Amino acid sequence: MKYMTAEPFRIKMVEPIKKTTKAYRQECLKKAQYNSFRLRAEDVYVDCITDSGTSAMSQEQWSAMMLGDESYAGSRSFYRLEASAQEIFGMPYVQPTHQGRAADYIMASIYAKPGMYAIGNMHFDTFRGNAEVMGCIPLDFCIMEGQKANQDYHPFKGNIDIPRLAKMLETEAEKVCCIIITVTCNNNGGQPVSMENIRETSKLAAQYGIPVIMDSARLAENAYFIRTREAGYENTPIKEITREMFSYVETATMSSKKDGLVNIGGLFVTRNENIYHRANQLAIVHEGFITYGGMSGRDMDALAVGLQEVTDLAYLEYRINQVKYLGDKLKEKGVPIIEPTGGHGVYVDGRKFFPQIPQHEFPSQRLVVALYEEAGVRAVEIGACAFGKKDPVTGEDIWPELETMRICVSRRVYTNNHLDVIAQALGDIYQKRDTYKGMRLVYEGPITSLRHFTAGFELL
Ligand SMILES: *Cc1c(COP(=O)(O)O)cnc(C)c1O
Repeated sequence: MKYMTAEPFRIKMVEPIKKTTKAYRQECLKKAQYNSFRLRAEDVYVDCITDSGTSAMSQEQWSAMMLGDESYAGSRSFYRLEASAQEIFGMPYVQPTHQGRAADYIMASIYAKPGMYAIGNMHFDTFRGNAEVMGCIPLDFCIMEGQKANQDYHPFKGNIDIPRLAKMLETEAEKVCCIIITVTCNNNGGQPVSMENIRETSKLAAQYGIPVIMDSARLAENAYFIRTREAGYENTPIKEITREMFSYVETATMSSKKDGLVNIGGLFVTRNENIYHRANQLAIVHEGFITYGGMSGRDMDALAVGLQEVTDLAYLEYRINQVKYLGDKLKEKGVPIIEPTGGHGVYVDGRKFFPQIPQHEFPSQRLVVALYEEAGVRAVEIGACAFGKKDPVTGEDIWPELETMRICVSRRVYTNNHLDVIAQALGDIYQKRDTYKGMRLVYEGPITSLRHFTAGFELL
């Protein structure tokens, strides 16, 4: 719509954010051992560490909260959430959970089998972790274009590599317990999965009787990419697209902290009555009774409304284009980013940004520190620290392919002015990029795969 290019909302309530000096931020960094997770949020000007649980709710959601029914069993809020989820997922059975990872735990308990493979496009940490605890072996089968810090354009970098999957199943199908598709693919930048790829994966799996499941924290963002990038969906309503996506899978989990447009909660949704009953049992033990699963009635009401708002086309247009706006601004300044920009953030290529810093000196982490120091903007490293591993035999470091700084954009929270601050600051850092040196890891917790949350660094 001509001229209607600004945010499809206006601001009714504001939350002040603090402006600080560079000297103050340098102190903060020192105290936090140069780990952005350890900064105090009040010392952050623009917070882009995650898009999880950080959304701003609408007036409709806040008013729905007042109608929350806090009954232990069978509350009205549950039935409103159930109806809303059924409409989005096209599946009959809905089990709420307190967060996405709790739904992942239930899903892994049911689908991940010891000694067998769980194949995914790129497993997200919480399903991967839960599957590993079950003794299952998660394998990533994302297409080549989506695997590395690759700047070549591909519209669906979250796709599963179908030929590779077909070849593997020919010989090892009996060792595969499930195939899990994460939409959008979180770990490579919120890159979408095409409808064709979901359909093909499901068809292939059906030949071998392997269940296909979905981790769908960003289901609406994925649907919007299908609508705008895949032939045949240009005029399809978003909810029809989401329902078709889920029509190819048996069960799905969702962290409602993303496309639920709420601050907490999760969902386990299935079309299989047996699976639902098993999920109910696990929910009762770990989460809460079937009709609340660890959520309060008011939170379920806010989510029921959020699921509807997130599938609104005007919202999604704003959302995806705001992320792209940041990507375009960075490109204008020469900053190397992963393209195309995904649904929930922009990933800056740490190796290309700081070619003088070797991977074992954490170039992307160095960039996170520089960005906070320069402008009070908090991003997060997705690279050598977050995904570095140790060889189980030799104890030697294994460095990941992906070496990036992730700048997440919270939903309905920041204006493009805030994004301009990020682009300006990163552009300035890029101008003097030769002057930066790397970092040394001086503290890490006992579990390597979780070390980025608590790690401590020193500047070299
Ligand atoms: C965030 C996320 C989860 C975990 O959800 P929480 O609500 O943080 O527990 C699982 N899968 C994906 C793809 C996610 O993005």
